[in-house]
This record gives sequence, structure tokens and C-alpha cells, in this order.
Amino acid sequence: MIHLPNDDTSCGWYDALPDTAVNPPLAGEESADYVVLGAGFAGLAMARRLAELSPYSRILLIDAQRIGQGASGRNSGFVIDLPHKFALEHPDPAHKQKLLSLNRLAIKQLSKLVSKYNIHCQWSAVGKFQGAVGPRGEAYLDHFEHLMKDLGEPYLHVGAEKLSKVLGTRYYSRAIFTPGGYLMQPAALVRGLAQSLPDNVEILENSPIRGISKENGYWRLQGDNGVVKTPDLLLGTSIFTREFGYLKNRLLPVMTFASWTRPLSDEEMQRYGGQLNWGLTPADHAGTTLRMTADRRILVRNSYKHVPKYGASVTDAMRKRIREDHRQVFLARYPALADVPFTHTWGGVYAISRNFTNFFGQLDDRVYASACDNGVGAAWGTISGTLLADFVMGESSPALKDIRQVTGMPSLNPPEPFLGMGVKSRIHLAKWQSRSEL
Ligand SMILES: Cc1cc2nc3c(=O)[nH]c(=O)nc-3n(C[C@H](O)[C@H](O)[C@H](O)COP(=O)(O)OP(=O)(O)OC[C@H]3O[C@@H](n4cnc5c(N)ncnc54)[C@H](O)[C@@H]3O)c2cc1C
Repeated sequence: MIHLPNDDTSCGWYDALPDTAVNPPLAGEESADYVVLGAGFAGLAMARRLAELSPYSRILLIDAQRIGQGASGRNSGFVIDLPHKFALEHPDPAHKQKLLSLNRLAIKQLSKLVSKYNIHCQWSAVGKFQGAVGPRGEAYLDHFEHLMKDLGEPYLHVGAEKLSKVLGTRYYSRAIFTPGGYLMQPAALVRGLAQSLPDNVEILENSPIRGISKENGYWRLQGDNGVVKTPDLLLGTSIFTREFGYLKNRLLPVMTFASWTRPLSDEEMQRYGGQLNWGLTPADHAGTTLRMTADRRILVRNSYKHVPKYGASVTDAMRKRIREDHRQVFLARYPALADVPFTHTWGGVYAISRNFTNFFGQLDDRVYASACDNGVGAAWGTISGTLLADFVMGESSPALKDIRQVTGMPSLNPPEPFLGMGVKSRIHLAKWQSRSEL
């Protein structure tokens, strides 16, 4: 009995998309040269690259949900070039430069695809603000500046006055702007990437795989109404990889949540007084991510939960409390928009590891995975998925060499109930310590 993805149906990004025809589910007996399981950024990139390298192979890309309903379609839409959070603290400068160049390769690849296939996903090279509310956040900003200097990366100080003209709020005391990040509409990008896959990739949606086994040299994937056989299995299943028995006690399932408004009217835009299409991440990691989208919606994201059963771990009462917390965060920034309601609140699950290490490579006989992106999977999923396909096909490149050097084995977790208690208390402590930055 495995736990399947169990995402809520209230993701604003997905709801904002027009309806599209559903791809068929897995039915009957199928066989394929390659199966890619999971159609987030990682799985999409694996399937595309396999198809490029092996244009006459039959490649099945299978997802339990509709394309765009998983974490890749429900995140905050930052495609980040810089190594993130703990990766930025890595003692080896060469390690960080490799992460930076891998992320930039991903951005280049996505930019090319967005332009080639005319994917309407608000893809914008607008950089990103890292914002502080008070002294605690400012101390983090100072540290961040020091890390940027070490990396030799460009950045700008943005004072309160200038920042308020962009953000339409005086809530932040200052920020650091870095120019290399992109913003996008994640569900639209994921859908566009899926729709532009080469012809030899077939997508099966609404097709949960409940178990895998090896029979006569083939992997057999068991679905609800069908089964598929393949010699080579690539897992783009992120945290759910552990459900198949791999990386079992090494990945931590974490959920974070977002809410957004409807698009602001012209009159509300006047009251808002800021600019369109920017993104701010918190200087203190446990703070709030804030975005004004290109289509005039204000989005807030914060709160973390340890979710051993993924979406099923979250009750309606928890969701209600999170939405109320988001509302307080919104009102503190935009009191003049108190009459603008939230239309959506949603959550999404991703994997972190205690040593903040990403897994990339082979898990079993002809089973491969890129898993555990530690919460920044748009760029990382894209490049790791691409390079995993290269790895499977025996290609070689400097980028493949780099990714093998910067990835490794996520560390083992303590057993339950100690793990759950430990993660819960760390999340609570971080929230309490960062309350002034929320
Ligand atoms: C609210 C939120 C905000 C975030 N903000 C950002 C951000 O701004 N920038 C950023 O880079 N990252 C962000 N992240 C993290 C990012 O979304 C993830 O790191 C990224 O989506 C991981 O991509 P992936 O392809 O590896 O996995 P996923 O997107 O999780 O894809 C895995 C897929 O596997 C499928 N699957 C799993 N099990 C099965 C099964 N048994 N059978 C069939 N299919 C299965 C799932 O349905 C899913 O579609 C955020 C996450 C959340 C939740």
C-alpha cells in the first residue's frame, strides 16, 4: 500500500489556465523503451532529452494527476539561478559555481523552449528581491551580501523608499536585488512544456502507479487499470520516490502554502501604487515570499508542515488557519486593499534532506532518479532531469560531470516518532524566531 500524491484542487495557477483535453490514462498492457514516472520539471526534462537522444524509442511519461497539478505547477514561480539557502553556505566555492552554472543552463534551456514553442507563462527576466522587514532580516541580508561578494555575483541594495515604489508597500526596511532569476506562471509553463514534447513521448495522465516489480528483465509498473513494462525506468517522482522503497529514510516530506488575490482592478492598482511583475523572497528563510504577478494578482507564500502522508496529512482546519495567517500577512502589507479577497489557497509537497544534498543517478538495476531538490526544483528539476537522460544514454559532458560532483546521498533520518517530533519542533522554532519577518 503506497501513499499517492494527494494535492488539493485549489491551486490558483492551475485554476487560472483554460481547460485542456486530458491525455489518456494507463489502460491494459503497455510496453515502452523508457518510462518516465512523474511529469514535473524533472520528469518533463527527462522525457524531452530521452526523446531527443533516441527519436525512435517509445517513451511513456506517466503522472498520477493532471499535468500541472503537482508541485511543479503550484510553486511560487521563481526560477532561481543562485545556489539556494543552505547550498549557498557550502564551504567549497567551486561547488557553488557549479550549482550556479547548472541553474543557468536550466534557465537558458527553459528560455529557449518558451520562445521556440511560444509558451504563454509570463516568463520574465526580472530578477528577484530578497527583502528584510526588520533587524533580524537585515542581519540575514548582510550575510547574503557577503556570500554574493564571495561568489562574485552582481547585486544591488534597494532602500525602503525605492522598494516601496516597486512593491506598493512600506512593510520592508530594505532589500538586495539579484538580476539572474526569472519569474513565470508555473502551471502554464509545465503545461506548455508537456504540450511541446517530441512526438515519441506519450503522456498518460490520471495514472497513479501503485507498485513496481522486476520480471524477466523488465520493470513492471502496476496502475489501477493497466500495467506497463519497460527495461528502463526514470523516476521524476520527487518525495514520492520513497514510496517505491528508494531513498526510504532519507527524504523529508515538507509542505508549504500560498494564497493569492484575484487580478486587481484599475482602481485597486491605483490604491496599490506599486509595479507589476516582481518577486520577493524573504531574507529570513522562514519569512514570507511575495509576488505581484504580470496579471495583477498578489501572492503570499509561507508556513511549512511536515507531511508524512503528503496532502492527506493536512486537515481542513489547518488549511483554514493557514489562509487566515496569509490574510494577516497580506493586510500588514496592503491595508489599503483590505476589500480585495483571496480567491485561492493551496499547498504543495516537496522533498528536503537533512544534509541538503540532492540525489542524482542510479537507484537500482536500470532505475534512475533525480530526487530531493530541497524546495527549489524549477531550475534544478529541469537541468537534473536533462542530465539524467544523458547519464542513462551514456552521454558525457562537462555539465554531467559537474552534477555528479555536486550531488550525493541525502543523509539518513532518525526513526519515527523522533523524526516527526524533531522536524515539527524545528519548524515551530523557526516560525517563532522569524515572527518579526513574517
Ligand atoms: C508552494 C510552493 C512554492 C514553491 N516555490 C518554488 C519556487 O518559487 N521556485 C522553485 O524552484 N521551487 C519552488 N518550490 C519547489 C518546487 O515546486 C519543487 O521543488 C519542484 O516542483 C520539484 O519538481 P519535480 O519535478 O522534481 O517534482 P514534482 O513537481 O513533485 O513532480 C513529481 C510528480 O510525480 C507524480 N507522482 C508521484 N508519485 C506518483 C505515482 N505513484 N504514480 C504516478 N505519478 C506519481 C506527481 O503527481 C508529480 O506530478 C515550491 C514548492 C511549493 C509547494
